[in-house]
This record gives sequence, C-alpha cells and structure tokens, in this order.
Amino acid sequence: MTCAAETIRDLPLAHGSLDRAAHRRREPGLLDALLSDPGTRVLELVGGTVEVVGSDGELSLHQRPPVPADRHRLAVFLGQDEGGPAHVAVVGDPVDEGDPRSWRGLRQVATLLDDRDAGMLATALALTNWHTAHTHCPRCGHPTSPEQAGWVRRCGYDGSEHYPRTDVAVIMSVTDADDRLLLARGAEWPEGRFSVLAGFLEPGESLEAAVAREVREEVGLEVEDVTFLGDQPWPFPTSLMVGFTARAAGSAIELDGDEIAEAFWVTREGLAERIADGRVLVSSRMSISHRLMERWYGQPLPTTGEWRSVRG
Ligand SMILES: [Zn+2]
Repeated sequence: MTCAAETIRDLPLAHGSLDRAAHRRREPGLLDALLSDPGTRVLELVGGTVEVVGSDGELSLHQRPPVPADRHRLAVFLGQDEGGPAHVAVVGDPVDEGDPRSWRGLRQVATLLDDRDAGMLATALALTNWHTAHTHCPRCGHPTSPEQAGWVRRCGYDGSEHYPRTDVAVIMSVTDADDRLLLARGAEWPEGRFSVLAGFLEPGESLEAAVAREVREEVGLEVEDVTFLGDQPWPFPTSLMVGFTARAAGSAIELDGDEIAEAFWVTREGLAERIADGRVLVSSRMSISHRLMERWYGQPLPTTGEWRSVRG
C-alpha cells in the first residue's frame, strides 16, 4: 500500500481540535463535579440531533451550563483545552413537538460547522451510539455501566472492562486503464443512486486486502496500486471510513448478484452528463464518497442530484 502525494486533507468531521484531556477521565467523580460546575459547557444530544445556533453560513453548536437533570443522564467527558472550560455531552430527553429550538442531525450540519464543532459532535455521537448499543456484557450478559467519564463500561457481575469500538470500512475509487471510474448502486438503494465501492474491514484483514476483496466480491475485478487517500470518522453509528484509489487489472465487470444491483465504468464527460440529466445521484459533499469521486473528476462535481448519504 502506498500513500498518495496529495491526500484529501479537508474532509469534514476529520479535524476536531478539542483536547480530549484523556488524563482526566480517571479522576474520581469527574462527571458529577463537572455537571455541578456552571462553567462546564454541556452539549445535549436528543435522538442523534443537537441544537445549533447562528445563520446557515456560520452555524455553531449550542452549549449550555449544566442543569440538575444532567446528573441522571448518560454523560461523557469530551475534553478540555488548557485554560478553557470542560466539555461534556449528555443524552437528553425527547423534546416536545413544536420546540422552538433548532435541532439538527450531523448530516445536516457537518459542512456548516467549523472543524472544532464538527469534530466534537462526531466524537459525542460515536461515543453515545456505542453506549446505547453496548448496555450488556459480551462475556456474561449482565448489565454494564459507564466508568472513566464515559470512556469505559464495566460489567457489574464479572468486573470486565469494555472499551468503545470503531468499525472500520474501506471505500475506494477504482479506475481502469482508460482512467474511467467505477460506479455502483447498492442492491437496497433507489434507482439512480451511485457511489464508489465500499465495505467493512473483516477480522484478521489488512486495509489493502479489504480493498482488493471487496472489489473482487462485488464486481469481480482484481486491483493493484491500492493507494491511501484519507480517512473520515463516520459516527453512523460508530464507523471510520478509510479512502483509497485502486487500479483495476481489467474492465470486465461481474456483479455479485447480491450486494450490488448495477455497476458501470464512466468517463468524466459521461459522469457530468448523467448528473445533469438525473441518471446519477451522488452522495452529499460531507462524505468521503463524494470527495473520492471529485478527486478523480478533477474539480467540484456538478451540484445537482445529491442524495443524503445513509451509508453506515
Ligand atoms: Zn460480565
């Protein structure tokens, strides 16, 4: 595996700058203390959404002082810059219909927040999503409870510790000898929605091997020159997308008949035409999928015909 001279450096969600201050996580009673301190900045998550403030050009996360109810909520310590306030995420109660505040999901605001806020939200979502899905011990089935300021869960029966997981997926722009790009539609996707190929890393597998296996399984092609291009936290619910390019050894596509409904090679002119007339809908610009296509295309993709990414 090689690294491209020009990796994709400005991927949304990938540049959180808050100091995670991991050394504080083991302080006894840290969350109770922080949630009693009016100087703490609380980020409340409700059903995967957060309150945002500002106009669309300059959105930021709304963070508030703690309220008494926070002491009884799932809470995680997000971090603290030197000399700055501590940041804590809490999972709040559902809001009433007609709540005047502006609650938005990460997909809606990822490209509108600055790097710091987008990174903080990605961390808060991935961590709270992990908690929600790991309430019981994988060894014995008894309930687990959060420790270390929300960064560990411990089994109440056998004492085992369980750490947050990240599920790694590879995503790759595959080109042929004529520099055409391979686009594919997942079997469960609507007509017209296309992306580059992607799939989860399997146990005991290297990233490079996962790229080659996924391409072989899904479209029957062998690849070479697998090159790393960039990676992006993707907290839907707890993934990391690792992006590559790869060169196909041939052009003959053989669909797996299961995961992929259709796949084809496209030239740059062909892609522009298909986007313009609606035959191809691409993922939103927040996704690494869009950015891999754009990198091959050589300039921003035509902006019509986006679908909201649901991958992950
Ligand atoms: Zn257990």
